[in-house]
Amino acid sequence: MFKANHKNESVEIAGHKIGLGEQKLIHLEVDRLPTGLLVKIPVFVFNGTKLGPTMLIQGGLHGDEVNSVELIRRMLAENTFKIVKGCVIVVPILNIFGFLSSSREVSGKDANRYFPGNKNGSLASRIAYYHTKAIAANIDFAVDFHTGGDQRCNFPQIRYTQGSQKGAKLAEIFNAPFRFESKLIDKSFRKVAHKHGIPVIVYEGGESNRLDEYAIEVGIQGINNILIHLGFIGNKAPTIKNTSVLLKKRQWLRAPIAGLFHSILKNGQQVQKNQILGYVTDTYGRFSTPIKAPINAYIIAINNSPVIKRGDALFHIGTV
Ligand SMILES: [Zn+2]
Repeated sequence: MFKANHKNESVEIAGHKIGLGEQKLIHLEVDRLPTGLLVKIPVFVFNGTKLGPTMLIQGGLHGDEVNSVELIRRMLAENTFKIVKGCVIVVPILNIFGFLSSSREVSGKDANRYFPGNKNGSLASRIAYYHTKAIAANIDFAVDFHTGGDQRCNFPQIRYTQGSQKGAKLAEIFNAPFRFESKLIDKSFRKVAHKHGIPVIVYEGGESNRLDEYAIEVGIQGINNILIHLGFIGNKAPTIKNTSVLLKKRQWLRAPIAGLFHSILKNGQQVQKNQILGYVTDTYGRFSTPIKAPINAYIIAINNSPVIKRGDALFHIGTV
């Protein structure tokens, strides 16, 4: 799958060289705060003794999507990256500003809309710039960890780029409960990487500012599946029984009226056409409007916000 031109003979990140068989923690400098404090992004590099593909595992591109940070923390703590072949680059928190302020953004800007970035741009743009120059330049593919935002909880799912065969294959190997193609967003990390022939799969699990044990476990298992399947940790490629459901179409069911939202089903559940998934009620006990499934589908995200406006996204459903 990633056979030619291996980049891990000598990985170079911001002037630091990491040869075959070496491990290093590098602090990638991106800016200086008004207080004079130098802002650095920790980057762990695990280079195996043999030539092979280089995978980037990235968390916290959106600073409040803490499941991504926690699942990477656990993998580091459990010494998951005993890499024999190829190289794994791990960025536990790309947007450290957002992480500190429980925010998706960097000073009001979404770093994932500023790729490939600009050295003299905003802080978000500079994070994107140093990431592109120092990290993305070394990789063959990436797994980018995210969660739903705005109190929307995503059931564990992998998104890959339309028409990307390698992306589709990686999604299959990762084996999250759901997987599907999704369009590229302008100036996102995934789009810029795609232009350079680097497939990025995006894991979405849980919601921002909330740890979700199941989403964390599925994310860790997915990385283990890739490590094993592509030979990073030296095992023979096993036969991973693919249980992931490939979704062909998706849609959001939106609030027909403003009010209080009550879901009566669980995320991930399969539903039948016309089945009631939940209700939107007024706030004074006068009426209740059912939300029905328009088709047979799976629920892949639920809005956990109780107070909703007309048109707000309530359920994300997908069909095979
Ligand atoms: Zn995100």
